[in-house]
Amino acid sequence: MQLMNRIGEVYEPFKVHFLERPVPELKEDEVLVKVKASAICGSDLHIARGLHPSAPLPVTIGHEFSGDVAAVGSGVTKVQVGQRVTVEPCIVCGKCDACRHGQYGYCEHISFTYRNGDGAMADYVVVKEPYVYELPDYLTYETGSLIEPLSVATHAVRRADIRLGETVLIIGAGAIGMMVAAMCRRSGAAQIIIADFSDSRLELALQVGATHAVNSGKEDLEEAVARITGGKGVDKSFECVGRESCFIQAIMTLKRNGTATVVGIYEKPQVEFPASRLVTHEIKIQGAQGYCWDFPIAIAAARDIPLEKFVTHTFPLDRLQEALDTALDGKSGSVKVVVKP
Ligand SMILES: [Zn+2]
Ligand SMILES: [Zn+2]
Repeated sequence: MQLMNRIGEVYEPFKVHFLERPVPELKEDEVLVKVKASAICGSDLHIARGLHPSAPLPVTIGHEFSGDVAAVGSGVTKVQVGQRVTVEPCIVCGKCDACRHGQYGYCEHISFTYRNGDGAMADYVVVKEPYVYELPDYLTYETGSLIEPLSVATHAVRRADIRLGETVLIIGAGAIGMMVAAMCRRSGAAQIIIADFSDSRLELALQVGATHAVNSGKEDLEEAVARITGGKGVDKSFECVGRESCFIQAIMTLKRNGTATVVGIYEKPQVEFPASRLVTHEIKIQGAQGYCWDFPIAIAAARDIPLEKFVTHTFPLDRLQEALDTALDGKSGSVKVVVKP
């Protein structure tokens, strides 16, 4: 009997519908995952607004997920039917220079499962065996679905090379910003300042690893950082919003020789900033995107990060539109909206 699959697709801005597709015959190296939890990501919201720089509509959504292995292809050796798993949703070629140097995050042909129609806002997803990770007992399906964004945060924090005792500023207490705070704490940063306009998000950020919270709607961020650091500024900053004003703050709050890591997605990519500061303060600016060998680290680190606190809303799959509306609604107080097929 042919299994049918429901897949959520954003077909025009703010609108999702379901496609019905038969679950295809598995190829040798493929694994069929019955999706149990699928989280809405900030990048899904850029897609939903029709403003994602590299994902024009229509797009199937869902790339942060966990589930049970329902079937495996004939050549699969490590993954077994019945295992609880999460999946690294990128697809790389394995042949380009970057891949052959082990830097698959820079693969010339990198793609993502959801761009190929295999979105995880669905009953089933077909993935390749090497991208499948078993969930340890301390992760539920819901927290397991958050390993993907935690890997994004892990990647950014590893690139920032956080050292023991350092002072860090994170601009934006969205899920990624808070996860960056959690990973900075585990990396030994001493002062972790996080800034946002929402007191409830800041409260949560303090529970998961930040040491200081600044409501930048109520207090000037540069002044607050000067106050907290005794006028010194921070060693490392993270821009987790994707906005010009935040980009500038990420630079202006740094100590001399500091590093800003830009993680936010810029719907308006052109920014203007005081370039002279780069020279006078010998500042470094770098980006961080996606992950490369970060999933195992994120899974290990998740043992003592209270990821369940991030899940503020859950919906069944047939209420995907409502789930997306909740995630898009700034007043809903949502951090992570998880859909459960
Ligand atoms: Zn994501
Ligand atoms: Zn490649």
